[in-house]
Amino acid sequence: MIGFGLIRGMGVTMRNFLRPPVTEQYPDRRISPIEAAKLAGMSPAAFAVKKPAEAFKAATGMTSVPVKVKQTPRFRGNEFAWYEERCTGCASCAKYCPLGIIKIVTHPGGIDVQEGESYAIDVFDIDIGRCMFCGLCVEACPYDALHMGSQFERGSYVRADLVITVDQLKSNMKRPSSWFRPQFEDRKYSPFEEKALPEHKKAGRHERPSSGQLTEKWVKER
Ligand code: SF4
Ligand code: SF4
Repeated sequence: MIGFGLIRGMGVTMRNFLRPPVTEQYPDRRISPIEAAKLAGMSPAAFAVKKPAEAFKAATGMTSVPVKVKQTPRFRGNEFAWYEERCTGCASCAKYCPLGIIKIVTHPGGIDVQEGESYAIDVFDIDIGRCMFCGLCVEACPYDALHMGSQFERGSYVRADLVITVDQLKSNMKRPSSWFRPQFEDRKYSPFEEKALPEHKKAGRHERPSSGQLTEKWVKER
């Protein structure tokens, strides 16, 4: 029938016009006056009377709140969590990286000489601008010193800024992902609920034996 297609087309338009929007606002989300009143702990009427300026801002779409993106604890973010105390400078992570983007420079540290000596680390650079987040470096670390991070907001206009230096690794807030780290999953650790995991002892599957334990195992028991 002539004109029926037009009505059907308008029906589709109206259906999409009336359905709730599917756009996810990020990093901030505009809130309605009702939501603003709820956040202020008031009823909408009390909010409008006691805070008219804020109610007006919310009504005109000028009030927003930060959005927390849902991520799984195993999410591999655009950063690394590195525990200096656990790292021996063995460079396994650098050797296993298929892109060769981890640069490690060390010198004999005079630490743990009895166990084969740990190296002092001068350079530990990761060019995250080229990283494909495969996690092989994390898998290769024998001491659970390197973990994938969970943050992803590292946008930059300059590629050189994407190189994570040893100083940044040291000072970064430690929010390791639980990817390839069963010890975190066993503890139900979530990088999003706990703010950070600064203690290196909690990051590993096992602790390094003390000098006394080594003597007991390798000297006295033999
Ligand atoms: S995640 Fe993969 S590409 Fe990135 S540094 Fe580690 S091994 Fe290299
Ligand atoms: S992070 Fe792990 S694999 Fe890399 S140098 Fe340190 S101990 Fe070795």
